[in-house]
Amino acid sequence: MAEAQIIDGKAFAARLREKIGSEVAALKQDHGLVPSLSVVLVGDDEASQVYVRNKGKQTEAAGMISATHRLAADTPEGELLDLIGTLNADKTIHGILVQLPLPDPIDEAKVIAAIDPAKDVDGFHTTNVGRLWTGLDAPVPCTPYGCLLMLKETLGELKGKRALVLGRSNIVGKPMAALLLAEHCTVTIAHSRTEDLAERCREADILVAAVGRAEMVRGDWIKPGAAVIDVGINRTNDGLVGDVDFDSVKEIAGHITPVPGGVGPLTVTMLLYNTLKAAKAQEA
Ligand code: NDP
Repeated sequence: MAEAQIIDGKAFAARLREKIGSEVAALKQDHGLVPSLSVVLVGDDEASQVYVRNKGKQTEAAGMISATHRLAADTPEGELLDLIGTLNADKTIHGILVQLPLPDPIDEAKVIAAIDPAKDVDGFHTTNVGRLWTGLDAPVPCTPYGCLLMLKETLGELKGKRALVLGRSNIVGKPMAALLLAEHCTVTIAHSRTEDLAERCREADILVAAVGRAEMVRGDWIKPGAAVIDVGINRTNDGLVGDVDFDSVKEIAGHITPVPGGVGPLTVTMLLYNTLKAAKAQEA
């Protein structure tokens, strides 16, 4: 069997950003509307700083307005909630993103619940989670949304396929399962208590791995020809690796995303997409 085709997430994201940029330019020209995203960063977690800088840069590169609110790690929860209230009330701001994780003792669920669901470009508010699972239009969490678009472009119709989502987090696993279900896949969600995991994986035409365990998914877990999407980002002595053992899996799979250069580049692009969509909805 031939080696798997590599799904080039970087190129896919670049094409999508170009489309978003053109739409933003048209919105500005025709309606004088410039989508605006406010990102809130609490504390000085190094990875979060990098993500937030990257989000800001890409938002501006797409022609949108980007603002970053940096708060000290010991900011009282009430102060953060007040800031969110101010951003909610500001009609010139269309998207609000609070960078996670938040430092202790801030209650993440309470903070997410404070964001106006219409401005919740991460799609984490329970209103939007409920809307996604009930088939209503909603901002969809960026990483799984990006995975879905890559799968649709690669495979076309997903209807009837067996999908296994490895991981059940609120930000990746669960929304990924909801999206695949909405595409009429038969979906299994696996997690740390799943029995016969390798066997369950071998049944899947589509396997999305979001576990955070370096190279856990091996070639002999894969159904020949399956599409494998690797969400994992694991820092090892050998550099960044995914949750999938790329070398053994690419011998068996039909399609595979690399790490880096697969899912990663799409996550911020989908944030831009969600911000543009939120701006259009709020100004309509
Ligand atoms: P979480 O830690 O929130 O969730 C991990 C999931 O994997 C849990 O459901 C857990 O099960 C399951 N799991 C852990 N160990 C095992 C195991 N040995 N066997 C089976 N299941 C297991 O992680 P996230 O969903 O936030 O992230 C997953 C990965 O994706 C990470 O590497 C993260 O860095 C990466 N990521 C990448 C993004 C990108 O832009 N490319 C964006 C977001 C995340 P249980 O629920 O039972 O504990």
